[in-house]
Amino acid sequence: MTHAGTTRTPNMLSLYDTGAQHPALAEIRRRYRALHASQWWPEDEIRELQLRCAARLVAHASKQVPLYRRHYGDNAQVSSWEEFLQLPTLTRTMIEDADKKDWIAEWTPPVSRPVSEAYTSGTTGRIIRVPRTPLMESWRAGCRMREYEWSGTDPGLSCAHIRHRHASDDPGWDEKRQMARSAWWEEPALGRLLGFGPGFFFDVSPPPKKMAAVLKELEPAYICSTPTMLDILLEHLRPYRPATLFTIGENLYDPVRERLEAGYGALVYDIYAVVEVGRAAAQCPQGNGYHVHDENVILEVVDERGRPAAPGVPSRVLLTALHNFAAPVIRYEIGDLAELSPDPCPCGRRLTFIRRFHGREISRIALPGGRRRVASSLMAWLGHLPHLKGFQLRQKAFDRFELFVVAKEALSSREMDTVRSMLEQMTEQPIDLKVVPVDEVPMNPAGKVAKVVIEVEADS
Ligand SMILES: [Zn+2]
Repeated sequence: MTHAGTTRTPNMLSLYDTGAQHPALAEIRRRYRALHASQWWPEDEIRELQLRCAARLVAHASKQVPLYRRHYGDNAQVSSWEEFLQLPTLTRTMIEDADKKDWIAEWTPPVSRPVSEAYTSGTTGRIIRVPRTPLMESWRAGCRMREYEWSGTDPGLSCAHIRHRHASDDPGWDEKRQMARSAWWEEPALGRLLGFGPGFFFDVSPPPKKMAAVLKELEPAYICSTPTMLDILLEHLRPYRPATLFTIGENLYDPVRERLEAGYGALVYDIYAVVEVGRAAAQCPQGNGYHVHDENVILEVVDERGRPAAPGVPSRVLLTALHNFAAPVIRYEIGDLAELSPDPCPCGRRLTFIRRFHGREISRIALPGGRRRVASSLMAWLGHLPHLKGFQLRQKAFDRFELFVVAKEALSSREMDTVRSMLEQMTEQPIDLKVVPVDEVPMNPAGKVAKVVIEVEADS
């Protein structure tokens, strides 16, 4: 396939390279040049590259990492996609429960030896410490450069980061403004390579009004934070207008995106990154959706039985970090849901195209024909019943449900009727509802309590 006529995005190196010299910078340049070219590759070439990387990773993990040796045997080989798709999935609980040594490779080449660590936020379970290696760092920097390319970012401008880490631990702490200043708003290597502008680092704790006053004083061109934080700040920040809002760290729902775009008059650029895996996907500059950094990760979208999901159906995300040989992450069930786009992206890139991410909290029920209905309103209604300490809806058939409840008193008949009528509205048919009192709501293999569990058998 040729790509004549597609609009190419600019090359970040031709535009912004400062010419600074260092072996690590040479490595990042090399990585970015490759990523800048491979985004236009035909799909079969991208898949071939992924399979080659996955085969190397799986062979390494089964030899060098006890956790995988137990699950795969000590000589696992993957030579086709079919074989890859049959590998058991890795759950968060498996990583959490593994003795740290269990998950760390006994031997790696020097470029894959840990140099630092990243931490998960701990909002969805125990904190996981993820080693970072020079190889992973160069991929991360390359992917970030491609994200700046796609978002039309000028690195020389300034940026404020509002995040969950304590900014007061950073050098450059400004007590008066309750934030840290840095010469570059990116990490030092990228900062030098592209001549990044100044960075202002806040943590999420100061009162929004106070943070907004400082932001209005500094007027950063960009703000990077969670959609929730940017939404909270909106009323305090007017009339200051940043050029771009980078949203990261939680799901960006359409109404919030619209409110941020209209309220700030800014481009909203959403990034899907996962601490355990690295840069995974980012918004397409033209199409209505996200491109996966296929060269860095394998992002699968699978149905309840672990088979590739049909486009347009919100389904489970499995992630494989292709360049993490220190603590391999292979077919990792992160707990997010995503929807593959039914159509290729109009931009011409054949990188995996995700129409929408749904985050972790979404609850769905199954309809015949592989359809799904979002059940958030029922879940919210149940969540507000004061006598319910916990609940879980289990769908046994398209028209049969069990509601597990942890409750001091039984549901009233009126409450039962409400649940039934909401379910009937969603399923478009009469349903059978049974309430089952339990002491505790069971956890799923990912170590989380799902609000809805689909157990429908014939679901095609
Ligand atoms: Zn695109």
